[in-house]
Amino acid sequence: MSMVWPCPLTAGVYASMGRAVRVPRPECPSCWSPVVFWSGYWRHVRWRGQERKIFIPRVRCRGCGVTHALLPAFVLARRLDAAEPVGVVIGQVASGACGVRPAAAAAGVPYTTARGWVRRFTARAGELAVSFSALAVELGGEVVRPQPDRCRFAVAAVGAAFTAAAGLPGWAVLGRWRFACAVTGGTLLAANASSPFLVIGRRRFMPPRSR
Ligand SMILES: [Zn+2]
Repeated sequence: MSMVWPCPLTAGVYASMGRAVRVPRPECPSCWSPVVFWSGYWRHVRWRGQERKIFIPRVRCRGCGVTHALLPAFVLARRLDAAEPVGVVIGQVASGACGVRPAAAAAGVPYTTARGWVRRFTARAGELAVSFSALAVELGGEVVRPQPDRCRFAVAAVGAAFTAAAGLPGWAVLGRWRFACAVTGGTLLAANASSPFLVIGRRRFMPPRSR
Protein backbone atom coordinates (compact mmCIF):
# COMPACT_ATOMS: atom_id res chain seq x y z
CA MET A 1 0.00 0.00 0.00
CA SER A 2 1.03 3.58 -0.34
CA MET A 3 0.35 6.77 1.54
CA VAL A 4 0.78 10.29 0.27
CA TRP A 5 2.35 12.98 2.41
CA PRO A 6 1.80 16.70 1.82
CA CYS A 7 5.29 17.38 0.53
CA PRO A 8 5.85 21.15 0.24
CA LEU A 9 8.79 20.65 -2.16
CA THR A 10 8.42 20.72 -5.93
CA ALA A 11 9.39 17.58 -7.85
CA GLY A 12 12.60 19.31 -8.99
CA VAL A 13 13.76 20.24 -5.49
CA TYR A 14 12.74 16.84 -4.10
CA ALA A 15 14.74 15.06 -6.84
CA SER A 16 17.83 17.21 -6.29
CA MET A 17 17.81 16.29 -2.59
CA GLY A 18 18.14 12.56 -3.30
CA ARG A 19 17.65 10.58 -0.12
CA ALA A 20 18.09 13.64 2.11
CA VAL A 21 14.42 14.69 2.05
CA ARG A 22 13.01 14.73 5.57
CA VAL A 23 9.80 12.73 5.36
CA PRO A 24 7.48 12.89 8.38
CA ARG A 25 6.78 9.54 9.98
CA PRO A 26 3.08 8.62 9.88
CA GLU A 27 1.10 6.22 12.02
CA CYS A 28 -0.02 3.00 10.38
CA PRO A 29 -3.22 3.83 8.45
CA SER A 30 -4.60 0.35 9.20
CA CYS A 31 -4.02 -0.01 12.93
CA TRP A 32 -2.53 3.31 14.14
CA SER A 33 0.58 1.62 15.52
CA PRO A 34 3.99 3.31 15.27
CA VAL A 35 6.00 2.60 12.12
CA VAL A 36 9.71 2.42 11.39
CA PHE A 37 11.47 3.49 8.19
CA TRP A 38 12.08 0.41 6.09
CA SER A 39 14.27 1.02 3.05
CA GLY A 40 12.55 2.34 -0.07
CA TYR A 41 12.88 2.42 -3.84
CA TRP A 42 13.76 4.75 -6.71
CA ARG A 43 11.30 5.77 -9.41
CA HIS A 44 11.07 8.42 -12.10
CA VAL A 45 8.97 11.53 -12.29
CA ARG A 46 8.68 13.91 -15.24
CA TRP A 47 8.74 17.56 -14.26
CA ARG A 48 9.10 20.48 -16.68
CA GLY A 49 10.05 18.21 -19.55
CA GLN A 50 12.76 16.42 -17.60
CA GLU A 51 12.75 12.92 -16.17
CA ARG A 52 14.16 12.88 -12.67
CA LYS A 53 14.91 10.01 -10.32
CA ILE A 54 13.32 10.27 -6.90
CA PHE A 55 13.63 8.15 -3.78
CA ILE A 56 10.42 6.85 -2.22
CA PRO A 57 10.91 5.74 1.40
CA ARG A 58 8.94 2.90 2.90
CA VAL A 59 7.77 2.40 6.46
CA ARG A 60 6.84 -0.84 8.20
CA CYS A 61 4.17 -1.06 10.88
CA ARG A 62 5.32 -2.56 14.18
CA GLY A 63 1.78 -3.69 14.91
CA CYS A 64 0.47 -5.38 11.77
CA GLY A 65 3.75 -5.70 9.83
CA VAL A 66 2.38 -4.06 6.68
CA THR A 67 4.75 -1.82 4.71
CA HIS A 68 3.67 1.47 3.14
CA ALA A 69 5.44 3.58 0.54
CA LEU A 70 5.41 7.30 1.40
CA LEU A 71 4.72 9.16 -1.81
CA PRO A 72 5.28 12.92 -2.03
CA ALA A 73 2.07 14.73 -3.00
CA PHE A 74 3.29 15.52 -6.53
CA VAL A 75 3.44 11.81 -7.46
CA LEU A 76 0.48 10.10 -9.09
CA ALA A 77 0.28 6.32 -8.77
CA ARG A 78 1.66 4.60 -11.88
CA ARG A 79 2.10 7.91 -13.76
CA LEU A 80 5.37 9.42 -14.88
CA ASP A 81 4.21 13.02 -14.88
CA ALA A 82 3.89 15.11 -11.74
CA ALA A 83 0.43 16.02 -10.46
CA GLU A 84 0.53 19.74 -11.27
CA PRO A 85 1.03 19.57 -15.06
CA VAL A 86 -1.61 16.83 -15.21
CA GLY A 87 -4.05 18.94 -13.21
CA VAL A 88 -3.37 22.09 -15.20
CA VAL A 89 -4.15 20.30 -18.48
CA ILE A 90 -7.32 18.76 -17.04
CA GLY A 91 -8.40 22.12 -15.61
CA GLN A 92 -7.88 23.95 -18.90
CA VAL A 93 -9.73 21.36 -20.96
CA ALA A 94 -12.59 20.93 -18.47
CA SER A 95 -13.16 24.68 -18.17
CA GLY A 96 -13.28 25.00 -21.94
CA ALA A 97 -10.30 27.37 -21.94
CA CYS A 98 -8.70 25.31 -24.71
CA GLY A 99 -8.62 21.88 -26.33
CA VAL A 100 -6.34 19.00 -25.43
CA ARG A 101 -3.79 19.75 -28.15
CA PRO A 102 -2.90 23.34 -27.11
CA ALA A 103 -3.03 22.33 -23.42
CA ALA A 104 -0.58 19.49 -24.13
CA ALA A 105 1.73 21.83 -26.07
CA ALA A 106 1.68 24.38 -23.25
CA ALA A 107 2.51 21.66 -20.70
CA GLY A 108 5.26 20.25 -22.93
CA VAL A 109 3.83 16.73 -23.01
CA PRO A 110 2.80 14.56 -25.98
CA TYR A 111 -0.77 15.05 -27.18
CA THR A 112 -1.61 11.38 -26.62
CA THR A 113 -0.38 11.58 -23.02
CA ALA A 114 -2.57 14.60 -22.27
CA ARG A 115 -5.54 12.96 -24.02
CA GLY A 116 -5.06 9.92 -21.78
CA TRP A 117 -5.20 12.09 -18.65
CA VAL A 118 -8.36 13.84 -19.78
CA ARG A 119 -10.05 10.54 -20.70
CA ARG A 120 -9.18 8.96 -17.39
CA PHE A 121 -10.35 12.00 -15.44
CA THR A 122 -13.56 12.11 -17.47
CA ALA A 123 -14.24 8.46 -16.70
CA ARG A 124 -13.97 9.15 -12.96
CA ALA A 125 -15.39 12.69 -12.98
CA GLY A 126 -18.83 11.83 -11.55
CA GLU A 127 -17.35 10.00 -8.60
CA LEU A 128 -14.64 12.63 -8.03
CA ALA A 129 -17.20 15.44 -8.13
CA VAL A 130 -19.29 13.79 -5.42
CA SER A 131 -16.28 12.91 -3.26
CA PHE A 132 -14.61 16.31 -3.43
CA SER A 133 -17.93 18.11 -2.87
CA ALA A 134 -18.39 16.01 0.27
CA LEU A 135 -14.83 16.76 1.36
CA ALA A 136 -15.36 20.51 0.82
CA VAL A 137 -18.38 20.40 3.14
CA GLU A 138 -16.55 18.20 5.66
CA LEU A 139 -13.78 20.80 5.80
CA GLY A 140 -16.29 23.59 6.37
CA GLY A 141 -16.20 24.91 2.80
CA GLU A 142 -18.92 25.90 0.39
CA VAL A 143 -21.47 23.55 -1.11
CA VAL A 144 -20.61 22.99 -4.77
CA ARG A 145 -23.57 23.31 -7.09
CA PRO A 146 -23.82 20.30 -9.46
CA GLN A 147 -23.14 21.17 -13.09
CA PRO A 148 -24.34 19.34 -16.19
CA ASP A 149 -20.77 18.90 -17.42
CA ARG A 150 -19.34 16.37 -14.97
CA CYS A 151 -15.71 17.25 -15.71
CA ARG A 152 -16.38 20.89 -14.97
CA PHE A 153 -18.29 19.84 -11.85
CA ALA A 154 -15.37 17.67 -10.70
CA VAL A 155 -12.81 20.45 -11.25
CA ALA A 156 -15.05 22.90 -9.36
CA ALA A 157 -15.40 20.41 -6.51
CA VAL A 158 -11.62 19.91 -6.32
CA GLY A 159 -11.26 23.71 -6.21
CA ALA A 160 -13.87 24.09 -3.45
CA ALA A 161 -12.28 21.35 -1.34
CA PHE A 162 -8.86 22.91 -1.79
CA THR A 163 -10.15 26.37 -0.86
CA ALA A 164 -11.57 24.89 2.34
CA ALA A 165 -8.36 22.95 3.07
CA ALA A 166 -6.17 25.98 2.39
CA GLY A 167 -7.64 27.58 5.51
CA LEU A 168 -6.04 24.79 7.56
CA PRO A 169 -2.34 24.91 8.35
CA GLY A 170 0.03 23.50 5.74
CA TRP A 171 -2.22 22.86 2.76
CA ALA A 172 -2.16 26.16 0.88
CA VAL A 173 1.44 25.75 -0.30
CA LEU A 174 0.54 22.53 -2.14
CA GLY A 175 -1.86 24.08 -4.62
CA ARG A 176 -5.08 22.39 -5.66
CA TRP A 177 -3.65 19.51 -7.71
CA ARG A 178 -1.06 18.30 -5.25
CA PHE A 179 -3.80 18.57 -2.63
CA ALA A 180 -6.16 16.52 -4.84
CA CYS A 181 -3.43 13.95 -5.39
CA ALA A 182 -2.69 13.75 -1.65
CA VAL A 183 -6.25 13.21 -0.46
CA THR A 184 -6.92 10.54 -3.09
CA GLY A 185 -3.78 8.67 -2.07
CA GLY A 186 -2.25 9.35 -5.49
CA THR A 187 -5.11 7.58 -7.27
CA LEU A 188 -6.64 10.64 -8.97
CA LEU A 189 -6.23 9.03 -12.40
CA ALA A 190 -6.07 5.36 -11.39
CA ALA A 191 -8.17 2.88 -13.34
CA ASN A 192 -9.47 0.76 -10.49
CA ALA A 193 -9.12 3.04 -7.50
CA SER A 194 -11.25 2.78 -4.46
CA SER A 195 -13.36 5.88 -4.20
CA PRO A 196 -11.44 8.91 -2.90
CA PHE A 197 -14.07 9.34 -0.25
CA LEU A 198 -13.16 5.94 1.18
CA VAL A 199 -9.49 6.81 1.04
CA ILE A 200 -10.23 10.05 2.84
CA GLY A 201 -12.34 8.18 5.39
CA ARG A 202 -9.52 5.75 6.04
CA ARG A 203 -7.01 8.60 6.17
CA ARG A 204 -4.49 7.16 3.79
CA PHE A 205 -3.23 10.68 3.37
CA MET A 206 -1.24 12.49 5.99
CA PRO A 207 -2.50 15.88 7.12
CA PRO A 208 0.22 18.53 7.23
CA ARG A 209 1.87 19.14 10.56
CA SER A 210 0.39 22.19 12.23
CA ARG A 211 3.80 23.53 13.19
ZN1 LIG B 1 -0.45 -1.48 11.25
